[in-house]
Amino acid sequence: MSPDFLFDGAPVVAVDPVLVSILLAPLTIVGAFVWGLLWGSFANVVIWRVPRGMSVVHPRSSCTRCDAPIAWYDNIPVVSFLLLRGRCRRCGEPLSLRYLVVELLGGFISFAFYMLCVVRPLIEGGAPALAAWLLWTTYGLGLMIVTYTDIDLWVIPNAVVLPIAALGIGAALVDPTVLGVGPVEALAAAVGGYAFVALIRWAYLRFRGIEALGLGDGKLLAMVGAFSGAAGVLWAVAAGAIQGLLIAVPMLLLGRKVAATDLQEVHGDDPELGEEDPDAGVMGMRIPFGPFLAIAALELALLRETILDALAWLVG
Ligand SMILES: [Zn+2]
Repeated sequence: MSPDFLFDGAPVVAVDPVLVSILLAPLTIVGAFVWGLLWGSFANVVIWRVPRGMSVVHPRSSCTRCDAPIAWYDNIPVVSFLLLRGRCRRCGEPLSLRYLVVELLGGFISFAFYMLCVVRPLIEGGAPALAAWLLWTTYGLGLMIVTYTDIDLWVIPNAVVLPIAALGIGAALVDPTVLGVGPVEALAAAVGGYAFVALIRWAYLRFRGIEALGLGDGKLLAMVGAFSGAAGVLWAVAAGAIQGLLIAVPMLLLGRKVAATDLQEVHGDDPELGEEDPDAGVMGMRIPFGPFLAIAALELALLRETILDALAWLVG
């Protein structure tokens, strides 16, 4: 295969060959995965503490049963979990497998965006987009965090989605090419995503006295619009709803709940909530929409060309 084949169709950009060999080195690619593992470990802290109004810095992490502080050498992503065989060093309490899963998802998110933003453009003769990799990784981690906080406590923390939404709009203002969305579209999609949810929520509260969607869902869609533009908002809503039904209905039929807690128990004293309606949600059960919005948004971020090409083909 001639090198011309690889460069076919993409502009050839002069990149320092030393930089290219560093960025494509297996150790660097592993490093991108490890970078994600470290942030995945931090995401575990955020998922537990932020919806409970706790600081992510103090106090240090400790065992939930015996309160023993967790030493740094027992807090190394993945490695410590495996060495301790998923148990507290002092009391032997099993640690939630969730910690391991979130760390690995963090690693996957960083790795996948490194391949998309750095490795693929280099192979195709373009310039590596390191800033885009960091931005998309932050976005992916944010989507993962709100998926779990919404499943756990029906909360999509402002402290997670609003700064990341601002980051996306800021990036589009500085360089419209970095995320592939210009500042006007990013801002309009962010506002539109929020307004869409706020409008549906208002209509349900006004005419049926129930809260069909939370404003957190709107702020999450604002974050999606800031990064992925109008296509991101539309895909998150449509694919999120379809996939939500495909997953939630079988789960409910099997007698399982999508959320880990009861909405009324967690937020029962919240005057904003509205009245519970037995007809609300799927088969009378309330399900959090945030996780399905977030998963669909991550799909589009990772598979944008494939998804948009497939949709264009479907439309004709
Ligand atoms: Zn313990």
